[in-house]
Amino acid sequence: TLGSFSNGDPIMTELLRNSLDDRIAEPTPALGTLERGEPIQVFAAPPGTPAKPRIARAEGIYMWDTDGRRYVDAGSGPVACNIGYGNRRVLAALQTQAAAAAFANPASFESAANRLFAERLAVAAGPGYERVFVVSGGSEANEAAIKLARQMAVARGEAARWKVVSRQPSYHGGTLGALSVTGDPTAHELFGPLMKPMPKVPAPVTYRIPPGFDQESWAEHCAEVLERTILDEGPETVLAFIQEPVGGLATGALVPHAAYMRRVREICTRHGVMLIHDEVMSGGGRTGAFLSHEHWPDCRPDLVVLAKGAGAGYFPLGVVLAPRDRVAEVASGGGFMHGHTAFGNPLACAVGLAVLDETLDNGLVGNAAEQGGRLRARLDDLMARSPIVGDVRGKGLLLAVELVADKATKTPFPPSAVAGATLARVAMEQGLILYQRRTNAGRDGDWVMVAPPLIATAGEIDMIADGIASAVAETARRLG
Ligand code: PLP
Repeated sequence: TLGSFSNGDPIMTELLRNSLDDRIAEPTPALGTLERGEPIQVFAAPPGTPAKPRIARAEGIYMWDTDGRRYVDAGSGPVACNIGYGNRRVLAALQTQAAAAAFANPASFESAANRLFAERLAVAAGPGYERVFVVSGGSEANEAAIKLARQMAVARGEAARWKVVSRQPSYHGGTLGALSVTGDPTAHELFGPLMKPMPKVPAPVTYRIPPGFDQESWAEHCAEVLERTILDEGPETVLAFIQEPVGGLATGALVPHAAYMRRVREICTRHGVMLIHDEVMSGGGRTGAFLSHEHWPDCRPDLVVLAKGAGAGYFPLGVVLAPRDRVAEVASGGGFMHGHTAFGNPLACAVGLAVLDETLDNGLVGNAAEQGGRLRARLDDLMARSPIVGDVRGKGLLLAVELVADKATKTPFPPSAVAGATLARVAMEQGLILYQRRTNAGRDGDWVMVAPPLIATAGEIDMIADGIASAVAETARRLG
């Protein structure tokens, strides 16, 4: 809150001078008792983790700490800040909506922000996704999608369907429902007793393909396992299959083979299983298409989930996109039984609309494709030269660099080497921010995400590529 920023931080005080009452803008001796770097969050980092710099401000793809150091954000935060920082249109929309009505209970009022956002998003998403349900984030949106799928099944008279099949590894969120479909054995070991176990199938990985398969036959095999799993579970009990069309952190931007995506759609249709695309990280233009299934026209999902890039870091926002007719079935049965205090929030919708307008008006989807191609070429070149870059994958500006101890055998570094974390730390020391997972690094391989904001120019992409090359070289030296 504004008051807590007044604890003697000169840059923040200067930045907020106009917003702060002079009296509280003066440093207050009673405040500021925490030492810099001292953990203040419940999920404090393990002992020995270096102190983080303190953020002062951010603009475009750049961030500055309170010591005046500049960082280039090549991860868009956690692959969320798609249109960069300090965007004037979004800030103005937020301010205007906040002044008009920061909150209006959707049970009592319709909001113009909600209606406009939904209408424009439905047009951008294309036919088949006319209904837009707005929540506060990715985990929540995935859970809403699952609940909507369940109500759709019940409305069709298929109340026996409840199982949601997903891939291993995958990430669909940290809340218990979203975690139950997340393919993460460590999380399941810890939180399993609190969750309903859901069937898992292998992710159609493209780098370490098991012996005896090539890219296509492995893709076909993974799809066959999905079908066998549905048959074994009893198709009449299977509600949905949820997948990240282009993977996020759990797989390091996995791009499945076209044969896999085609077969997945056929299998889901054959068994009446709803296909949910978790586009929390990949949606909204990041992969060079507004929705990433556009890369696989024969794999259109029934429900699409968006989050990170939809609010682009300016406001918590998650979205479920659904077909008009299927939602009508649910509506005629009494309506979607779901809601949170913040669903359809006017501030979230105003931000979502402004982010969408910025994305479309400035051709950022095309820019993601173009600059993604440029960055990919540079990273491929780095892979050819570096002894520790084993794979580069992804689409558009959703890319990952996988580090290996031995390129010939694709042997990962041991988890104890924390190779990806080392690269991210070295990059940060050099003023470049990459996105890297905090847990499970090294279990299925070790990578960093390279996902700059979609506003990045060719010059900025070159600067990022140079920065990664330098950080990789230093990382190779440190890992010995
Ligand atoms: N799904 C995917 C693919 C994600 O990458 C994430 C977050 O990283 C989530 C779901 C969860 O979203 P949130 O962190 O907004 O709850």
